[in-house]
Amino acid sequence: MCPKLEIDVKKLRENTRIVCKMCHDKNIDVAMVTKSYCAIESVVEALSKESIDYIADSRIDNLKNLNHIRLPKILLRIPMISEVDEVVKYSDISFNSELETIRRLNEVAIGQNKIHKIAVMVDLGDLREGFFNVEELLAAIDEVVKMENIKIIGLATNLTCYGAIIPSKENLQRLVDLAKSIEDDYRIKLDFISGGNSSSLYLLDKDEMPDGITNLRPGESIALGRETAYGNPIKGCYQDAFKLVCEIVELKDKPSQPIGEIGVDAFGNKPEYVDRGIRRRAILAIGKQDIDITSLEPMDKAIEILGASSDHMILDITDSSTNYLIGDKVEFLLGYGGLMSASTSKYVEKSIIYEKVSAAY
Ligand SMILES: *Cc1c(COP(=O)(O)O)cnc(C)c1O
Repeated sequence: MCPKLEIDVKKLRENTRIVCKMCHDKNIDVAMVTKSYCAIESVVEALSKESIDYIADSRIDNLKNLNHIRLPKILLRIPMISEVDEVVKYSDISFNSELETIRRLNEVAIGQNKIHKIAVMVDLGDLREGFFNVEELLAAIDEVVKMENIKIIGLATNLTCYGAIIPSKENLQRLVDLAKSIEDDYRIKLDFISGGNSSSLYLLDKDEMPDGITNLRPGESIALGRETAYGNPIKGCYQDAFKLVCEIVELKDKPSQPIGEIGVDAFGNKPEYVDRGIRRRAILAIGKQDIDITSLEPMDKAIEILGASSDHMILDITDSSTNYLIGDKVEFLLGYGGLMSASTSKYVEKSIIYEKVSAAY
């Protein structure tokens, strides 16, 4: 069935192994983030055989599906008050930035007779989640340390997500310093100082990760084999562990400029075209309703993506040396948006290639 997302577990295991080694060599624990491929159970099971220390996801539903895997689970997204029951049930650690929510987690944890661990999110300037104001943070910690069934294990920060701020020795040192002063003030131990996602990995290579950062949360770097501060491939990692395979349904020579008065396209945009004469075009049976087509890269470098409507993607294949026929498959590498949307799309089949045999998912 096409379109299909091909998932090569062997390549993902190798990526996991390499990222784990990078982190463990600097005494940093790995919380493997599984959200970009919807935490497909059998894939996560296979990757859990590598030396990851935690499984992390933004959705409690995904963690619930992984409940049988014997590794501690982290809920990355700030919990909704409406889901606190599930959060205590299915995550060992949650990331939090709202005192009101932590109070509710405490009540639920008392009810479930559990100690729920939290890491408090600190915003170092990326302006997504986390305490930005230090006084507000300390006031919250003042109350949290007294909660019966909540144990604060550390601090966490997230960068390069909303504000595209790059992690640095300086901003991560602020996190370490903050943790140290809380430890001293409250006479508690904060072992879990989580210094970001795949965009923090480059600091390991440069040997600029501050001492005191004890955890990182790589997702994209394992899935797509690259660090995300600068977008560089990670040495030894595969960038093609995920591939999108689509099928050609039309092949024709057509002019490069539409004929007639130009209005707006199916999505309300007024397009502009360059006249390049008659070109060889292929139509693939995939479109904007299936996936985010802006983050695809044809594996045949001579193919150009012209555009897509809801169900059709149009390629210029004039310069390709491959003689494409109707029914042939065209393969794409995926960016982060492409991977996420292909994973969530019910129109894209998931085909998992295990180490020896392959099976449809
Ligand atoms: C998504 C996410 C990650 C993983 O990010 P990558 O860029 O995929 O490495 C880590 N931490 C949090 C809080 C996240 O939301």
